[in-house]
Amino acid sequence: MSMRETFTDLFKRTTKTAEGAPFAGERLCRCSPAWPGLETTANGYVLPAEASGHYSVLTNPDIGPFVARCTGCQARYPHPWVIPAGAPMPFDWAQE
Ligand SMILES: [Zn+2]
Repeated sequence: MSMRETFTDLFKRTTKTAEGAPFAGERLCRCSPAWPGLETTANGYVLPAEASGHYSVLTNPDIGPFVARCTGCQARYPHPWVIPAGAPMPFDWAQE
């Protein structure tokens, strides 16, 4: 199984809310100032996210389905971001 398939299977609910709606809107941030905060979701948990100069392995859109959104207006963040070190990770495998 490829890494992409593994991630897609593990996080197939990641980009949708429990109601099945998209977690993040495909539009620009409407807040002022823009992007007051970022958050992401995994398996129903909301995790903090922060803007970065590069993607991490987990947040790289070429590998996994994670998306970050604005905490104010839920717009999808279109630039590289990471899950901050020390953020609670709700997956057993992430602890290894
Ligand atoms: Zn916003």
